[in-house]
Amino acid sequence: MVPRVIFGRGSFNQIQEILAPKRVNTKAPFIFLVDDVFEHNPWLIDRIPLRFLDQIIFVSAEEEPKTSQVDALVAELKSRFTENPSGIIGIGGGTLLDMAKAVAIMLTNEGSAADYQGWDLVSTEAVYHVGIPTISGTGAEVSRTTVLTGPEKKLGINSDYTPFDQVVLDPELTRGVPQNQWFYTGMDCYIHCIESLTGTYLNAFSQSYGEKALELCRNVFLEKNVRDEDSEDKLMMASWHGGMSIAYSQVGVAHAMSYGLSYLLGTKHGIGNCIVFNHLEEFYPQGVSEFKKMVRKHDIDIPTGICANLTDKEFDKMIDIALMLVPLWENALGKNWQEIITREKLKAMYKKM
Ligand code: NAD
Ligand code: ZN
Repeated sequence: MVPRVIFGRGSFNQIQEILAPKRVNTKAPFIFLVDDVFEHNPWLIDRIPLRFLDQIIFVSAEEEPKTSQVDALVAELKSRFTENPSGIIGIGGGTLLDMAKAVAIMLTNEGSAADYQGWDLVSTEAVYHVGIPTISGTGAEVSRTTVLTGPEKKLGINSDYTPFDQVVLDPELTRGVPQNQWFYTGMDCYIHCIESLTGTYLNAFSQSYGEKALELCRNVFLEKNVRDEDSEDKLMMASWHGGMSIAYSQVGVAHAMSYGLSYLLGTKHGIGNCIVFNHLEEFYPQGVSEFKKMVRKHDIDIPTGICANLTDKEFDKMIDIALMLVPLWENALGKNWQEIITREKLKAMYKKM
């Protein structure tokens, strides 16, 4: 679990006092990995305290993080500085948060990030790392994984060293998020709740967080008619609780299939989950019906027909990626999931999307 967290509008201003005691020495900089959407945003950038060799590196969230990108950033930091950084601070959405976690891990572990995709493969503690979300929903700020696309798979580095050492939850940072993106990433949280609460891995720990997150999502996306400060605060906490809920359970069908889309077509996580979830009445009847209400209420565009022109080989690749995620299927459908989910069944489902 994340050992330290602060929450509050404007809490980003405390970053200086949080980091100062963690500085190893003047040659070991703090590296701020910041979503490049903020590159020309002095309201945020001017508040990042830079001292000694500290640096801001802007990273695009256009594409989800790749193992090769993590390796390149780590190589660059190793060549530029004589010492490992005092800390890596990720500022942005799930893309930047995952990038920060992965870079922190790879600064102290040999080889390529691709070698650590899986469960509990990391052996050395990461560099101190801090997560500061600027959009709510993924739960990446609280989770034990950093999801990366590698040469062969899209899979997280799940380990005890992955979670942030410190998280700063400042809902004010989310105010500029475009409406569609707000919905897609917010729905990631909603889908985490549905997949966790209906899964076979559910226990009291996951349930307690999942139910709270679901209640907050319903408030933000169904009950309220405006997107205001209260909904920013609530969605940030929904994301946190949703992430905690899956920490002790798993996600399910939407995530497994969305990983396939992402690997083959580069479809981003939030929108990919929405595209898939839209067709999952069979597995999550209540959740999908409520999801459709939220789509209508906010007049959101969910793309269709993205698999219309794929070749058999491409379908096969997507199906391979989806089927690799055994714990997700087992959580969703139980130990005998393979009796329900065949390659043909998956292909028929993808064809509808
Ligand atoms: P994102 O980080 O990809 O960002 C989405 C878009 O929103 C980008 O264009 C970004 O520039 C923009 N944006 C972010 N903050 C903004 C702001 N305040 N104002 C204006 N624009 C802003 O989106 P996401 O949905 O948060 O993250 C998706 C990623 O998270 C995927 O790579 C996925 O694999 C990962 N993920 C990780 C976990 C985990 O537990 N580690 C869980 C779920 C998803
Ligand atoms: Zn997700």
